[in-house]
Amino acid sequence: MAIADALSLLLGADRIDTTAAALTQHSRGESYAAGVMPEVVVYPQSTDEVSKVLRFATERGVPVTPVAANSSLEGHTVPVAGGISLDLGRLDRVLESRPEDLLIVVQPAITYPRVNEHVRRHGLFFPIDPGAHASIGGMVSTNASGTAAVRYGTTGDYVLALEVVTPTGEVLRLGNRARKSASGYDLCALFTGAEGTLGVITEVTLRLVGLPEAAAAARLPFPDAYSATSFVTRLIQAGVPVARCELIDPISIRAVNAYSGTAFPEEMTIFLEFHGNPAGIAAEVEIARELAADAGATAFEAATDAGERARLWEARHTMLFAANAAHPGLDSIITDVAVPISELPAAVASAMADCAEHGLDVHVVGHVGDGNFHLTLYVADAAERALAQGVVDRMTHRALDVGGTATGEHGVGLRKLKYMEREHGEALGLMQTIKATLDPAGIMNPGKKLPVRAPR
Ligand SMILES: Cc1cc2nc3c(=O)[nH]c(=O)nc-3n(C[C@H](O)[C@H](O)[C@H](O)COP(=O)(O)OP(=O)(O)OC[C@H]3O[C@@H](n4cnc5c(N)ncnc54)[C@H](O)[C@@H]3O)c2cc1C
Repeated sequence: MAIADALSLLLGADRIDTTAAALTQHSRGESYAAGVMPEVVVYPQSTDEVSKVLRFATERGVPVTPVAANSSLEGHTVPVAGGISLDLGRLDRVLESRPEDLLIVVQPAITYPRVNEHVRRHGLFFPIDPGAHASIGGMVSTNASGTAAVRYGTTGDYVLALEVVTPTGEVLRLGNRARKSASGYDLCALFTGAEGTLGVITEVTLRLVGLPEAAAAARLPFPDAYSATSFVTRLIQAGVPVARCELIDPISIRAVNAYSGTAFPEEMTIFLEFHGNPAGIAAEVEIARELAADAGATAFEAATDAGERARLWEARHTMLFAANAAHPGLDSIITDVAVPISELPAAVASAMADCAEHGLDVHVVGHVGDGNFHLTLYVADAAERALAQGVVDRMTHRALDVGGTATGEHGVGLRKLKYMEREHGEALGLMQTIKATLDPAGIMNPGKKLPVRAPR
């Protein structure tokens, strides 16, 4: 019996879609041009249904690619081996809210802005902000972070417990509700960042934090990448607990000005945000102002009023739309690396020089307080794609040369697979053993995260 017919009998016809529109929609993700059609899209509505699908898939050797908001950037959700695209979008409810314990229990497809809408009334928030309307399950599965990681950490830092369905259909509960634990192996950490290669997350218990009493924002243009990133290095080394610390390059600011009719200085610009009490943030802003002057900032605008803060950050918020509008009809390649903070100035400057040398139009955005930056490259054809891939290769190897990582937050997906051997060395074998133990039939998101183990 065909896979779709068998799954229809197992779950009901309304959980299955084989229309061309659904298959096409599930054939590719963001920033990764090559798509592959799944055979069927399945929309489970409970943990039990996820379990039935995975048991069926393991028995029949059918590949399963989980997908939620589909905002991942390295080809994570492309069903390269066909089979089932497991769309978790219907599992999007809040299951339990416990503000007194600063936690919330959610299904995986709820987005982080919806979690925040839900908990704001209790003076709480989930501080991880990747920008796209990502799901909590997707964020756990990529260990997403984003603009606020410099202060608040990554998604994994907020995972207290998970319910997961293993590839053989077993339902496991991992972790607990205590603020800390020294018990057992940390299996929540194993599933965090696993990119759907070890099983499906069907429930997440998230730690929350208190909303800050006050906030301030600042915008600081610099004459070049080196001075801007050197300022960031000094700010972090000085221990200033900045809440967000972002960099945007002059080409992106020019795109924003064209897109929004603004007149921001077209310079390398740092955007800062501070959270805390009014006296504390005033002191932090002053330290930042002094360090910025020493590093050669050409201006320093700061504000505490919400409207003014939004104005100062406007270019950062509009940047992606503006960059896309500046390159109509072109494919984008969005990729990231992270380096130790002292290596940041050289890493950003060399990536930009490499793009210039190869005539590539690049947009640089960085969560630079983490030593993490992104390149967005627009390509018109195969030749430009090859040039862009060369830039990504060299940037990644330079990051590895100085003790960094091939990806600070976007994950491995397909595009970063080739660097895993160099980054992890002998430990890659242990990762492959864990994968083979949990997923003996190799059905879960095949071809992602780890290179396939060579036959012995
Ligand atoms: C404009 C833009 C800006 C971005 N900025 C950032 C940023 O600043 N920081 C950052 O970290 N990321 C960023 N991203 C990338 C993206 O938002 C994150 O990778 C996000 O975590 C993906 O969540 P998602 O719900 O879209 O997951 P998907 O893309 O649907 O899936 C991501 C991966 O997780 C797996 N998966 C999804 N749900 C589950 C589940 N329940 N169980 C098991 N596996 C699952 C999938 O198989 C896939 O491998 C950005 C993306 C865009 C488009």
